Amino acid sequence: NDNLLEVKELKKYFPIREGFFSKPVAWVKAVDKVSFQIKKGETLGIVGESGCGKTTLINTILRLEEPTEGEVIFNGQNIFELDKDSLRKIRKNIQVVFQDPFWSLNPRFLIKDIIGEPIRVHENVGEEEFIEKVQNLLQLVGLPANSVYKYPHEFSGGQRQRIAIARALALHPKLVILDEPTSSIDLVSQASVLKLLEELKKELSLTYILISHDLSVVHNMADKIIVMYLGKIVEYGEAHEVFRNPQHPYTQALFAAIPDIYTEGMEGMKILEGNVPSPINPPKGCYFHTRCPHAMEICKEIEPLPVVETEKQHMVTCHLIQKKANL
Ligand code: SF4
Repeated sequence: NDNLLEVKELKKYFPIREGFFSKPVAWVKAVDKVSFQIKKGETLGIVGESGCGKTTLINTILRLEEPTEGEVIFNGQNIFELDKDSLRKIRKNIQVVFQDPFWSLNPRFLIKDIIGEPIRVHENVGEEEFIEKVQNLLQLVGLPANSVYKYPHEFSGGQRQRIAIARALALHPKLVILDEPTSSIDLVSQASVLKLLEELKKELSLTYILISHDLSVVHNMADKIIVMYLGKIVEYGEAHEVFRNPQHPYTQALFAAIPDIYTEGMEGMKILEGNVPSPINPPKGCYFHTRCPHAMEICKEIEPLPVVETEKQHMVTCHLIQKKANL
């Protein structure tokens, strides 16, 4: 089994209560029956509008949230069955690069303490070795070794993102979660940070989960993608296949907004209108029916089941596709 991460039927529901101790009156299904796998060395892109469940999904994978149901198997171990010590060990292997290096780097700390903090927490090393490790990490991300005694404000946005990457790599993780890694930096720096991420992936045999609003970044980097809508996966497959031939009306609408990506048969596709419905009382049937240009009667009543095109491993949850598959 060469899967580094397997997520099986994962659910995370949050209760809505009227009073602190009262019974829940409703549930927000932030993550609902989500399943996918990532092989070692792959990049999985996760796309969807704000509120689609990406953040809760990541927090549950990191076990910052306990799941309502389901399994997360990392490197063969179910993380929800681990005791504190084993979980601590596994956490070293899963690191996150947060979206905004301006906020995620403490301005009062020297670079050596920002990058080296995970080393101080997890490894017992003397000061000299500590500084050497931090200098190596700086060089790994293309920054001068003498940056150790500087403060974050002495660096540009792109350099600060490199510092955040160096910190994430301090404990030699296997899986790195890139949460909007380029959204807060200028275009020129974006390109060089993306190039650096690709090089590090090869050099250090990393596996990535990439969350980005920027679909062209996902298009360039991801091997597989999942498209989420209101806590559910609506489409999942090899990235080149999904980008070339998006099947779900929601994916088609998302992709229609990116002019530089060629997709089959999507000329004149309407750009997505309206907002994501409230996750507290999501619509009956297919959650997307309130915005879908192809909605049929059945879509308002019955939730579609996933259809998998086995040869291409392309999964879509939509009645239209189910109909075609049954023909
Ligand atoms: Fe649109 Fe119906 Fe497919 Fe939902 S199931 S995406 S409403 S066609």
